[in-house]
Amino acid sequence: NTEIAFEAPVSSGQLVTFHYSLSNLAKSPGYSPREADDRVGYFVTSYKDLGQFGVEEQYTRYINRWHLEKADPKRRLSPPKEPIVFYIDHTVPVRYRRFVRQGIEYWNKAFEEIGILNAIEVRYQDSTTGAHMDKDPEDVRYNFIRWLSNDISTAIGPSRVHPETGEILDADIVLTDGWIRVYWNESHNLFPDLAMEGYGPETLAWFDRHPEWDPRILLASPSERDHMLQQRHLQGIRAYGGHPAAMVDSTMYGDDEYDGLVDLSQHNGCCMAAQGKGMELAMMRMHFEMLGLGDTEVSEPPAIPDDLPPELKEMIKKRLEEAAKEGKLNPEMMEQYGSLIGNVEPEGDDEPETTEEPKGDKGAKEDPSDLIDGVPDWFIGPALADLTCHEVGHTLGLRHNFKASSVYTLDEMNSGDLKTPITSSVMDYNPTNFNYGGEGQGDYFMTSVGEYDKWAIAYGYGDDHKKQLERCTEPALQFQTDEDTWGPDPFSRRYDFTANPIDYANTRMRLVHDLRE
Ligand SMILES: [Zn+2]
Repeated sequence: NTEIAFEAPVSSGQLVTFHYSLSNLAKSPGYSPREADDRVGYFVTSYKDLGQFGVEEQYTRYINRWHLEKADPKRRLSPPKEPIVFYIDHTVPVRYRRFVRQGIEYWNKAFEEIGILNAIEVRYQDSTTGAHMDKDPEDVRYNFIRWLSNDISTAIGPSRVHPETGEILDADIVLTDGWIRVYWNESHNLFPDLAMEGYGPETLAWFDRHPEWDPRILLASPSERDHMLQQRHLQGIRAYGGHPAAMVDSTMYGDDEYDGLVDLSQHNGCCMAAQGKGMELAMMRMHFEMLGLGDTEVSEPPAIPDDLPPELKEMIKKRLEEAAKEGKLNPEMMEQYGSLIGNVEPEGDDEPETTEEPKGDKGAKEDPSDLIDGVPDWFIGPALADLTCHEVGHTLGLRHNFKASSVYTLDEMNSGDLKTPITSSVMDYNPTNFNYGGEGQGDYFMTSVGEYDKWAIAYGYGDDHKKQLERCTEPALQFQTDEDTWGPDPFSRRYDFTANPIDYANTRMRLVHDLRE
């Protein structure tokens, strides 16, 4: 492929770099396009043929998918003729590589169920050994997972697709470490968006006419409200209240939230999964802090990250000291946190349970968790694998499924009896399962692809795709996507969680309440 980049002024007068990537489109022999169906969430390649007379016949809609087939179709299980190969770019920090690999390989389970073994292969590019360093991530022949350091939470999984067949030819995912590092300013950026979550274009249009009822105004500080109202009057009335779906500029795909919906094909839209994960990291800090104090039995008290902001560390220290005074810390907790708080003896009529021994190498028990950028590896690892799996899902052709998080109840997720991951799809924006104050603690994240994901892969890549559709009424296979999040179904929402979202909201409120106390 040939890469061309040039700078040109845009209407605002700013210089912007335009980048084109041109490649020769070769049809892959033996590929047959697969028809799209609204019940299964794939990105779609579609076109209109005005040579046909009937309106219905004019439209052709194919799903976007890879050309993947068994090497030996007669076998129940067979390796693929040609696997989908992902290279993990050498810019991905070594400490994160295994989790990125894990997230990619989660999908192999779904392919195995339709008889294709090791459909996806992962290779490491490495600058020290020189492995695969001759391959360029910009090259259309190679699929790369790349890594950027930034201070915003982003992750994208775009792909290049044959415009006549929907065959996916190349995919490159960009992950960033922003969501791991910038949790402290995330709330400021995310809350105004979250407050508007689920409002459709009609509601936004109504808010434009009645700004005094707009949550963004109601939740603003009283000293700002009059100014904001004034600004709104100056701005005037916008189409659909400025809803992102009405703002889509279809000339460039992937830069707007609802890209492609207003045009013929959706190659891929904007993905905000990483933003949600950034928020969850902030929740993690609160959750772990409270776990160190609560009445909940914790088998392994979480380590306190070294690089916490000093004021947060001070706060934790103070709370731990208080808890120690009240005799609320068990011996494991004392061992974990002893060095931070020193020797504090329980007061009151409780028998002192803490030992008089000086802090330090008592028992010489190894800290079981390894901190990665200030976060325990057993937490950040699965979080990154989950996010990677979501983005890889986009590059396999899959769209978001915001219904998936509502399949299981909070109790089911944390009962220890659940035989599946905590929701039915990695393609939702699944919050982290912090069961604060509840019984038991299930997986925090998706630890594999879900039931819906497997079914979607069976539709897109399996032999008898029409047969798969017969299962479409099963509760775990429901599909609702971006444009459904402002529709009538209260369970197809982004960032909601569990079969009863109120239960989930209550655990979070409990956490906030206890922290404030
Ligand atoms: Zn996404």
